[in-house]
Amino acid sequence: MSTNEDKLKTLIGHAKEYGYVFQSSEIYDGLSATYDYGPYGVELKNNIRRYWWEAMTKLNDNIVGLDAAIFMHPLTWKASGHVDAFNDPLIDNKDSKKRYRADVLLEEHIGKYADKIEKEVEKGRKKFGEAFDEAQFRATNPNVKRAQERIDAVVSRMKAALDANDLAALRQLIIDEEIKCPISGTGNWTDVRQFNLMFATELGSVSGESSTIYLRPETAQGIFVNFLNVQKSARMKIPFGIAQTGKAFRNEIVARQFIFRMREFEQMEMQFFIKPGTQKEWYDYWKTKRMEWHRALGLPAENYRFHDHIKLAHYADAACDIEFKFPMGFKELEGIHSRTDFDLGNHEKFSGKKLRYFDTETNESHVPYVLETSIGLDRMFLAILSAAYEEEKLENGETREVLRIPAPLAPVKVAVLPLIKKDGLPGKARAIFDILKLDLNCQYDEKDSIGKRYRRQDAIGTPYCITIDDKTIAHGTVTIRERDSMQQETVPVAEVQRIVNEKVDLRRLLEQL
Ligand code: ATP
Repeated sequence: MSTNEDKLKTLIGHAKEYGYVFQSSEIYDGLSATYDYGPYGVELKNNIRRYWWEAMTKLNDNIVGLDAAIFMHPLTWKASGHVDAFNDPLIDNKDSKKRYRADVLLEEHIGKYADKIEKEVEKGRKKFGEAFDEAQFRATNPNVKRAQERIDAVVSRMKAALDANDLAALRQLIIDEEIKCPISGTGNWTDVRQFNLMFATELGSVSGESSTIYLRPETAQGIFVNFLNVQKSARMKIPFGIAQTGKAFRNEIVARQFIFRMREFEQMEMQFFIKPGTQKEWYDYWKTKRMEWHRALGLPAENYRFHDHIKLAHYADAACDIEFKFPMGFKELEGIHSRTDFDLGNHEKFSGKKLRYFDTETNESHVPYVLETSIGLDRMFLAILSAAYEEEKLENGETREVLRIPAPLAPVKVAVLPLIKKDGLPGKARAIFDILKLDLNCQYDEKDSIGKRYRRQDAIGTPYCITIDDKTIAHGTVTIRERDSMQQETVPVAEVQRIVNEKVDLRRLLEQL
């Protein structure tokens, strides 16, 4: 595979062929930026969701769940700022007619300087070997210093333009930096315009201003408006959190890159309500906790990094992303935001209802501050799929396609395979399958040669295959084959469940947190 685009294409092809992800409405040539999850996709998605949900609500006795409606009172989105400020600054290239987010063009441009710095540092490391002092090198190397100055200059102009909502200044920065359209290669840009991302629809049959409602662009607001309902009914004391997963909708303009950016997607959000003044402490706490959740999966550590926001959203006093190395480079996977009392405070103003917490220790009530963790389920799915996929060269010269999905998240945990279709093996295999299926997501397969069946399970990402042969009938043993090492072992039938569970139980992830 040569380029990142090839990598993504291969992954999309694999996801389709093996029932993970399909283009939505494909028989009508598809609907852009919407996707459907196939038989294995839905299992993986459910498993990721369950891992998140249990890590939040089961491991923390001060976090409870909620499932709020997608439709909300229209004033919700006035109070949240989405009606007035949920905009993307867009710019078109006049030659390619392609549309881009102006801030994304600039961030990617900054990324190129950052890559240059990392290359210089790598060169230095090779040159100086053991004696290499990275901090000193970064502070003194002229090439690194020059690139860092460029980054600082662009970041400062970009921040000033975004903060002042100065779209002309944003365009000028793109021109001054000589940023070109990747398709046409020209710098022939239109003006920058703002575009609201919410989908609007009409409630009931009457159309008109008052009946316009929106498909929620984030799940968080359902949590904020239910703050008191949950706090009182579940008798929660600050600090406490409310977790929710569910669909969100955004009329994304630049919707490319498969399930990374969709118009209909799913979020997993947790709002943590805290005492004002403690936000820094909780921000650091949740940054650490969320990174631990990711790292427990065992994907390579170098796939993750934190990225502090240059421009803080209207509600935030600190914000960062956990970025993941997707096939198209490092991109946002999860956001961690310190939201102050912006949300509850504004809902108080717009609803006229008090949204306060009465602190029995101080005998005072206050509007709590909020610390949010927000991750896209579909992005997490893509992160896992892209890290898991490998075209592996085998010692015998063949290649196999394998999905090394972390075993507790794998859609099928074990495949039960009779070696041949006779001598009573299928019946025996069926009997074993019927027992295992009560606890594990299993698959029975008797079609094709055993080698082909192993390959099929590798491509789906099944961590274990057990093979039933004449020894099963004679001695009650089966062969168990592990996906990643392809090692085979003979074990008693009665041991299979314990051995498989050892690796595939969600507990294996949760106990690391
Ligand atoms: P981006 O900058 O990539 O547009 P964002 O900063 O607007 O993302 P948030 O509003 O912080 O995203 O949403 C929280 C999470 O929801 C993101 O980290 C991402 O994982 C997910 N998400 C946001 N927009 C989309 C989308 N269009 N498709 C899929 N997932 C999304």
